[in-house]
Amino acid sequence: REGSDSLLPVWGNIKQPANVSSKVIFSACELGVFDLLLKSQEPLSAQRVARELSTSVDGTERLLDALVGIEILEVETADGTALYSSTDVANLYLARGSAKSLHDMIIYQSQTIYPLWNNMVDAIREGKNQNERTFGFPPEDIFQVMYRSEEEMLKFMGLMNSTWVLDGHDIVTAFNLSCFRAIVDLGGCTGALAREMAKAYPSSCVSVFDLPQVVETAQKHFSQDNDVFVFQSGDFFSGEIPAADLYVLARIIHDWPEEKCLTLLKKIHATCQPGGGVLLVEAMLLENRRGPVMAQVFSLNMLVQAEGRERSPSEYTRLLNAAGFHSVQACRTGKSYDAILAVK
Ligand code: SAM
Repeated sequence: REGSDSLLPVWGNIKQPANVSSKVIFSACELGVFDLLLKSQEPLSAQRVARELSTSVDGTERLLDALVGIEILEVETADGTALYSSTDVANLYLARGSAKSLHDMIIYQSQTIYPLWNNMVDAIREGKNQNERTFGFPPEDIFQVMYRSEEEMLKFMGLMNSTWVLDGHDIVTAFNLSCFRAIVDLGGCTGALAREMAKAYPSSCVSVFDLPQVVETAQKHFSQDNDVFVFQSGDFFSGEIPAADLYVLARIIHDWPEEKCLTLLKKIHATCQPGGGVLLVEAMLLENRRGPVMAQVFSLNMLVQAEGRERSPSEYTRLLNAAGFHSVQACRTGKSYDAILAVK
């Protein structure tokens, strides 16, 4: 989207055909091309890259040339040898170690989302996710599929984490939330959004609530020394949710069918005090159905991978009103995700 700090610097460079260009970048990420070029203090030949990455020289040369063609790498020829080097965009967004790295997001796109999208036609015909056809898992429990191994769980959590490293600050400041003392991020995963929340509202107590195995993995792999938020384990469908003044649901409502969304929102409404709030963080569709294309594509992704969908502001308002919340305000942030605030 215009003004977005997130994907545009990478995808904005891509001319047609964008779909295969994405796979060029994904392949280079998976092979470690950007990490190698960042680490190396000098431009490298295709032979050298191939030797370091244990790949074929021919394949590596074609990949590097394609990356130059889409302006992700640069090339100079010296004494008849092509020498490749990184661009600032590649170093900032595609190398693994950078603070704004999209590496985890890209690996997840390449290894999980692409195989699912190969079955998009079946998803549209059947109106249901393609977890069984793609990965051999029954479609009912979407998180059991996403968390089918420690490796898969880490990949998914890495994907979730990377969004808020880029866009988290814009989300938590879309509304002034300083009046809410106790803030709980339900389904808060790695705590990346909670970290931004705690930074923006230092007087509030922020906690992350998620499934026990997610909390354990978040604490082991994603926590930072100066973190001031706390984790709580539980199941927001089958168990109790903690008392709080503000409940954050970031990319939760879009996962589930309408009845489950209502059940969860009604549970939150029953638990919070009058004046308490709920903050939904989702990619909002336009009322006139003309975009944004990112939200429309996310909605297709929810079809092929989950049980939910993306919605317009009026659809969120209806859902929140049906659960008992009022004063619904929607804020388009101009980034990948938007914010919707409602109060009890
Ligand atoms: N809010 C995070 C974000 O936006 O990065 C994560 C969103 S992810 C799509 C959904 C989150 O809900 C996951 O972290 C998942 O573990 C959590 N979740 C799913 N079912 C849950 C349940 N029954 N109780 C608590 N958390 C749950």
